[in-house]
Amino acid sequence: MNIAIFKKSNYMNKEIEDKLLSLIKKYHHNVNQDKPDVVIFIGGDGTFLRAVQHYLSKLDDIVFIGLNSGHLGFFYDFDLNSVEDMFIQLEENSVQHHKFNLLEANFSYKDSVETIYAVNEIRIENPFSTLISNVYIDGELLELFRGNGLCVSSSLGSTALNRSLGGALIHHDLKLLELSEISSIQNSKFHSLNSSLIIPSKSVITFKGEFFDVVIGFDHLTKKVDDLKQIDISLSNKEVNVLYSKEHTYLKSIRKGFID
Ligand code: NAP
Ligand code: MN
Repeated sequence: MNIAIFKKSNYMNKEIEDKLLSLIKKYHHNVNQDKPDVVIFIGGDGTFLRAVQHYLSKLDDIVFIGLNSGHLGFFYDFDLNSVEDMFIQLEENSVQHHKFNLLEANFSYKDSVETIYAVNEIRIENPFSTLISNVYIDGELLELFRGNGLCVSSSLGSTALNRSLGGALIHHDLKLLELSEISSIQNSKFHSLNSSLIIPSKSVITFKGEFFDVVIGFDHLTKKVDDLKQIDISLSNKEVNVLYSKEHTYLKSIRKGFID
C-alpha cells in the first residue's frame, strides 16, 4: 500500500515518525505523499480536518487512519503506544471501515456559484453587525434570523462547535444535519427558534439575505464574502473513508472526550 503521513503543522516528534517509517518498511508498504491509498494523520481532531481538505480531490481513493497525539481524538483511537497494533490491524483488515458524507455549501454571487466542503460544520457569521437572514429548509421558510450567525453541523461535527451552541450530539451512524443559532436576538420584537433543529440528511438549508461583511466558516477555514445573496447547505455526495480500531465504539469516544 502507498501510505502518506499527515502531521499537525507544529508536530515535532521525530521518534514517532522514525517508528512509523520503519513499520511502513517492515509491513512492505511505501511512503507516497501525493497518491496514497492510506493517510495516517498524527495530531488532534483538527489535524483530521486539515488532512481531509488537503486530499479533498482524492477522497474516493483514500482511507484515513489516525494516530492520536494526546488530544480528544473523536476521529481515532490508536495512539503513540499502539502504532504497531495499527499496522497489524491494517494487515489483518480487522479495522472498522466507516464512511462519512461531507457537508457542502454552494454560494450564489451575482453571476457565479462556488462550492466548499467541510467535515464538522459550515457557518455564516457577521462579526461586525447583526446578521439578518431568512432561513429556509427545502424551500420552506423557517424563520427570519437576527444574531451573530448560523451553524449547520454534520453528525461528526456535533461534538465540536455545535455542542458549544447547545446542540445535541448525534451518533456517527446517523446521517443528519443540525442547524444551530449563534447568539440569536430574542426579545419582544425579534425572536427566532432559539433551539437546535435536527433535520433529515436529504434536506437543503438555505440562508438568504443581503450579506455584506460576512464570514463563512468551514471547519478550521474561513472566507470573507462581501456581496452574497444566498448560501445552500446540504450533505454532500462526497464521502470520506475513516478506519477505526476493531475496539472502537462511538460511546467509547464520547466517554473519553467528555466524561472520563
Ligand atoms: P481548535 O481551536 O483546535 O478546535 C477547538 C476544539 O475543537 C479542539 O479541542 C479540537 O480538537 C476540537 N474539535 C475539532 N473537531 C472536533 C469534533 N468533530 N468533535 C469534537 N471536538 C472537535 O481548532 P481546529 O483544530 O482548527 O478545529 C476546528 C474546529 O474547532 C471547528 O470545526 C469547530 O467545530 C471547532 N471549534 C469549536 C469552538 C467551540 O467549541 N466554541 C470554537 C472554535 C472552533 P483538537 O484539539 O484535537 O484539534
Ligand atoms: Mn486543533
